[in-house]
Amino acid sequence: METRWLYHTSETFPTLVEAAKGVCVIPMGCVEKHGLHLPLGQDIIQASHITYMASQLETVCVFPDFTFGDYCNAAPCQPAGTITLPVETEMLLLEQLCEQISRNGMKKILILNAHGGNKTWLSTFLRKMYNTKHDFVVGVIFVGLPAPHSMAETLLQRGSGAIPELTAEDETILLRHHEENMKLGHACFGETAFMMGIAPEAVHLDRLGIESGLSTHKADYLKEVGLEIVSGGWDVNYPNNYDGDDPVDCNERIGKAALRIEAERVAHAFKVFKEDENVLKWHAEMQKGW
Ligand SMILES: [Zn+2]
Repeated sequence: METRWLYHTSETFPTLVEAAKGVCVIPMGCVEKHGLHLPLGQDIIQASHITYMASQLETVCVFPDFTFGDYCNAAPCQPAGTITLPVETEMLLLEQLCEQISRNGMKKILILNAHGGNKTWLSTFLRKMYNTKHDFVVGVIFVGLPAPHSMAETLLQRGSGAIPELTAEDETILLRHHEENMKLGHACFGETAFMMGIAPEAVHLDRLGIESGLSTHKADYLKEVGLEIVSGGWDVNYPNNYDGDDPVDCNERIGKAALRIEAERVAHAFKVFKEDENVLKWHAEMQKGW
């Protein structure tokens, strides 16, 4: 069925709420540089795509994209095209959107987040929702990256042909990267695969090799003594907003397979959240005194 909020009419919307059993999912990302080879909207594009794919496997209501995420606050140094909002604005906006979802009859809200920089404030947001009177619960799930490592592990465990979308050559690529312990992080092979599967025209592999995705290790000495600075020193260690080994031989087939595998994992989480009878009860019990 049509699972996207924005594509329903007022007349048909209640059928979606009913079929979704009151579960509404908000895709979340950010707008930031992803090396020179991936688009600024990488995170929200993949979050939105995977949420929709998973909603076709397990019906939930797909909320409009929450496009803007938290990015380092050193605003003057941000690369061209970056958009960042103050965390206070994001927290208030998200809370008020959740209230609108609840007012429309859905009391279980799940955020599908694809941007690592959102993790910190989302954790604070969940606590805030817990400590503020509301008749809904909020959960978070983070987008995983099946390519190349977990796909290679599937091939090693179940043999050639276990991922039907792939050719023998694709299998060799994944197994080689796995064996070489390819580094994944930001704008890495995993993210490149997703964009290859969604919009290959937005991937620019010819721009690889111009800026490095390897760490400068400049901030490592702080981490080694257990000292934490903003983002764990990520911006200093990865000044090109690129963290990973070059995904030189990534292709569309690998991307489509990675999307399907991740959508299936996420759909299972939707199912567990839909069928759950505890979280709303626990929430109500905790808030009884208010
Ligand atoms: Zn990303």
